[in-house]
Amino acid sequence: MRNLVILGGGTAGTMIANKLRHRLDRLEWSITVVDRDDQHHYQPGYLFLPFGGYTHEQVVRSRHAFIPDGVDFVVGSVEKVEPEQDVVLLDGGRELPYDQLVIATGTTPRPDQTPGMLGPEWRRSIFDFYTLEGAEALADALAAFDGGRLVVHVTEMPIKCPVAPLEFTFLAEAWLRERGLRDRVELVFVTPLDGAFTKPVASAHLGGMLDERKVHVETDFMVERIDDQRKVLVSYDEREVPFDLLVTVPLNMGADFVAHSGLGDELNYVPVDKQTQLSTRFDNIFAIGDASDIPASKAGSVAHFSVEIFVDNFLEHIAGRAMTGAFDGHANCFVESGDDKALLIDFNYDTEPLPGKYPLPVLGPMDLLKETRTNHLGKLAFRWIYWNVLLPGRPVPLPALMSMAGKNAPTTEPDEQEA
Ligand SMILES: Cc1cc2nc3c(=O)[nH]c(=O)nc-3n(C[C@H](O)[C@H](O)[C@H](O)COP(=O)(O)OP(=O)(O)OC[C@H]3O[C@@H](n4cnc5c(N)ncnc54)[C@H](O)[C@@H]3O)c2cc1C
Repeated sequence: MRNLVILGGGTAGTMIANKLRHRLDRLEWSITVVDRDDQHHYQPGYLFLPFGGYTHEQVVRSRHAFIPDGVDFVVGSVEKVEPEQDVVLLDGGRELPYDQLVIATGTTPRPDQTPGMLGPEWRRSIFDFYTLEGAEALADALAAFDGGRLVVHVTEMPIKCPVAPLEFTFLAEAWLRERGLRDRVELVFVTPLDGAFTKPVASAHLGGMLDERKVHVETDFMVERIDDQRKVLVSYDEREVPFDLLVTVPLNMGADFVAHSGLGDELNYVPVDKQTQLSTRFDNIFAIGDASDIPASKAGSVAHFSVEIFVDNFLEHIAGRAMTGAFDGHANCFVESGDDKALLIDFNYDTEPLPGKYPLPVLGPMDLLKETRTNHLGKLAFRWIYWNVLLPGRPVPLPALMSMAGKNAPTTEPDEQEA
């Protein structure tokens, strides 16, 4: 019997367990999934919780419900991997030997990494919405907020779902307008980037949307500390941004055990080949989803598309053959823009988000880089698809690799666009 151990029962780990249980011989392979708890969170739902959009029950389910028969689910915290001995150490001393290991432990917000963030103002005037507790606490704070400076802040890239802070800003703007509070609120978006987003065409588009909504954008802001007594964000170049209510996305980092095991980079992400996601150092360790260092968005869609490529590659790899699939960094994200509309962006390692139609050329029905109600309905429908189709590993009728069909390629060179 050979052992496949999957660390992390989140989006990627659960999909892999479901897909591989059908493809691996049960008499030959055992599969074990490890996670620190039994609560699977639909993280995209955190965005809507502060505005009363979803309930707790709609975003949390038992992991057991999604782990298939024939897969062992172990609840425990991973303390260390010993890659030379092919063994995983859990808290409490339990050891799990493996023949093949998949690290799918994601990335986590780390407010402890910015001085002043976790001070007395944490969850009083400083909030995050990247955790369930943070999003729920923020709902109460927003309900009590009746004016002042609302600052949305990104500490450092990469973060998971890099459009989520923009979506939060658009939703907050619409929400304040609906409540007749918009005139009493100064909205500020603070980012370490030089624009609203990472890619030039989308950045210009999304930056224009912030302008239209009269959101002040503070760019190139590398936060050094938060002065919680004065309620001010302070940057390394000594700029200050005051706030009454701060909604921050703390530094995101991979799991600490990755560092303790000598498997990570400076942010605890596992270096892998960007096409196969095989560790650059160990021939029996893969990292899938947010845990890896691939230069793609950290997003559930990336986890999904990359798992499709990974599964066939994995079967070739354990059969001793060369892996023939090559993941292209395909990401596909709805961007809520308020007033029951959303944009859709579709891109990969080489192609930035472009306008056009998706998934079918001409017909769509989704519009790329354009605010529509259909896109918003697509975003809402995604929660059902996540629980009922994606996590159980059922086929989704979308190509895993990005297609240029339906996209309007820019007529200018990228350098000219950026200028
Ligand atoms: C606010 C928000 C909005 C988002 N919106 C979108 C969206 O619209 N579209 C989209 O595609 N993506 C979105 N995402 C991102 C998406 O949720 C993640 O990219 C996706 O869940 C990544 O999957 P993963 O399996 O790599 O990690 P996760 O799903 O985070 O799973 C990692 C698992 O590892 C476990 N784990 C970690 N460390 C340990 C340890 N030491 N021991 C045991 N277990 C451990 C965790 O408990 C967790 O269950 C959003 C995320 C947030 C926070």
